[in-house]
Amino acid sequence: MIKLTIWNEYEHEKVNPKVAAIYPQGIHQALAEGLAAQPFEIRTATLDQSEHGLTEEVLNNTDVLIWWGHKAHGKVEDDIVNCVHERVMKGMGLIVLHSGHFSKIFKMLMGTSCDLRWREAGEKERLWVVNPAHPITEGLGSYFELEQEEMYGEHFDIPAPDELVLLSWFEGGEVFRSGCTYHRGQGKIFYFRPGHETYPTYYNQDVLQVIANGVKWAAPVRTARPVYGKSEPLETISAKSLTVIG
Ligand code: ZN
Repeated sequence: MIKLTIWNEYEHEKVNPKVAAIYPQGIHQALAEGLAAQPFEIRTATLDQSEHGLTEEVLNNTDVLIWWGHKAHGKVEDDIVNCVHERVMKGMGLIVLHSGHFSKIFKMLMGTSCDLRWREAGEKERLWVVNPAHPITEGLGSYFELEQEEMYGEHFDIPAPDELVLLSWFEGGEVFRSGCTYHRGQGKIFYFRPGHETYPTYYNQDVLQVIANGVKWAAPVRTARPVYGKSEPLETISAKSLTVIG
């Protein structure tokens, strides 16, 4: 079982009736229910909990963290962001959804502005699988569509992804790198674009499939721990090799 923590700022749902109608228990609960059949041990965490629900105990017992945030990025305490960063460096997987592109943790991990174009016009999004051999695309067709979404367009100011998995086209004409993977330290990061709060995106089966695949891909594998610093030689180094000839 993969230990999955779903973090949501949980702000829009409390103040916007349109969002509350779509996600009455919050985006985090909708995702938890949508992923319930997966081999995941799921817990949720939100901004208003103590330490944003991301205590040392929770983070140490999280294999993969999902992050959804938008209007409250600035309210996330730097100490907590640093703890999440440290866990990613040590191997925790991180799935950053939609407007999480502007979260403190994603910007810290990317080192760029992570800015992009956007428009809220309820237009169609078509997500093309551009890396059909990648485990994150398992079970998908050549593409899938969302009838209504917010538009995110290039240029998206991110470092070149290690792997580009999905590419979005929007009805208004823009394109966007909507499924990007990165490695930072021992950790794996997957950015996945869809999920504007005023559309029922997280009930879409293809979207849930991508997120489930992303969690499985980002889960840590128990490989050798890296060793740094001054090192003793494994073999006897011959003094001869240090002699200057001639
Ligand atoms: Zn949005």
